[in-house]
Amino acid sequence: MAPARLLVPALFAAACATPEESRDTIPVAPEPVESPAPAPARAGPPMLAPLLEEGLARGQAFELLGQLCNAAPHRLAGSSGAERAVAWSEAAMRRLGFENVRLEPCLVPRWERGDVEELVVVKPEAHAGEKLAILALGGSVGTPEGGLEADVIAVTSFEELEARSAEARGKLVLFARPMDPAEVQPFAAYGGAVSQRSRGADEASRTGAVGALVRSMTFTLDDEPHTGALNYGGSVEPVPGAVLSTLAAERVGAWLAAGEIVRLRLSLSCQRFDDVPSHNVVGEIVGRERPEEIVLIGAHLDAWDIGQGAHDDGAGCAHVLEAGRLLHAATSLGAPRRTIRAVLFMNEENGLRGALAYRDAHRDELDRHVLAIESDRGGFLPLGYATDAAGAGLDVLREVWGGAESDRGGGADISVLAEFGVPLAGLYPNPQRYFDYHHSRHDVLFAVGARELELGAIALASMAWLAADYHGEWPRETLAPE
Ligand SMILES: [Zn+2]
Repeated sequence: MAPARLLVPALFAAACATPEESRDTIPVAPEPVESPAPAPARAGPPMLAPLLEEGLARGQAFELLGQLCNAAPHRLAGSSGAERAVAWSEAAMRRLGFENVRLEPCLVPRWERGDVEELVVVKPEAHAGEKLAILALGGSVGTPEGGLEADVIAVTSFEELEARSAEARGKLVLFARPMDPAEVQPFAAYGGAVSQRSRGADEASRTGAVGALVRSMTFTLDDEPHTGALNYGGSVEPVPGAVLSTLAAERVGAWLAAGEIVRLRLSLSCQRFDDVPSHNVVGEIVGRERPEEIVLIGAHLDAWDIGQGAHDDGAGCAHVLEAGRLLHAATSLGAPRRTIRAVLFMNEENGLRGALAYRDAHRDELDRHVLAIESDRGGFLPLGYATDAAGAGLDVLREVWGGAESDRGGGADISVLAEFGVPLAGLYPNPQRYFDYHHSRHDVLFAVGARELELGAIALASMAWLAADYHGEWPRETLAPE
């Protein structure tokens, strides 16, 4: 069956058109002698006409996101909020027309932030008693009661810490490297800085330091800390870890640069508990010709225990749920050749246990997963797609979806399928403001644009339908995992 008409060029070209009436007034710049080569043109993601019509006229993605944020604003894996999110999304899938809806079990870690979360200035004396904005890192051990008081050393890399390890002993280490603002891809800038958050505590502990403080992963200069997971490797004594707002990190850095001794008292009452049972939520649109072959569309249901996880990854869940509803509602399209399987994964943020449980439970059919698509980059205007498909696999993807990929990668949850040869892809919304909200109290429903979210759901539904309806065999050629 030929794919239905695509509307992308009109949609995106319209936004860039110069209004006819203002042309006369625009001064004409002289022709440059030699223009630099333009960046390659990139089309937006595909949007099938019947899905676009239904999604814009009667879209429910934003309504669904509102319901999720209301039912379970805080839904870190292992919490009661996460269980409410599971129950809500199972009911939503049944209501929206998914088939074979079920819960699939996984065991997840449980960690609680606790009531005490404080970083107080002891020195410089001129600022004694002032509080710096922090959040405990997810998974962190707490401090002794009454807190942990120590001088601070700031470093911008693990290499610098290694070189100054004698100096770090007994201190709090501030990992102060910012996300590189010169990097055009925010996710690449994040990738270049995030090891400080995930490994900083262990690296600090290795030198005999007593705790790790990490500059928040955001381009924004404000007083809002952005949390995230730290991972203890088990080879050194776990020490507490917390993130500072970028402004707090700048203040501490400025005091140190001015030659001040900086002494801080860190108090955290967070705690780790035994693993608890939880679930992935799964539903399907069953294929009409090759139902045993699967195009997976996924997002993660869990979110950090602050804000509402509206962009991360409530938006992805809304994309997936609304994609299913759209495909059910747009009867003129009909079911695609293959099955589209929607998976809302549990525990992406601090363990990936849902993804691993899915991989293990479905090991026998992973060779029939022809493509996995994740939405975990926020609810902004969809600009295109990311993928790890390569060679013939990439050719087919470009043929089916049009245009060229905007980035590589798929998403953390589906990344565990790569070693089984499953080609990965991701919805690619405009990434430039994602880290303004990511893992912070600012990631709330109000930060998501309703129309942008609907367009993301339309794009994901279109990508899934076109991939699942592809007439040929899907090549399993992919880039080597990063
Ligand atoms: Zn996420």
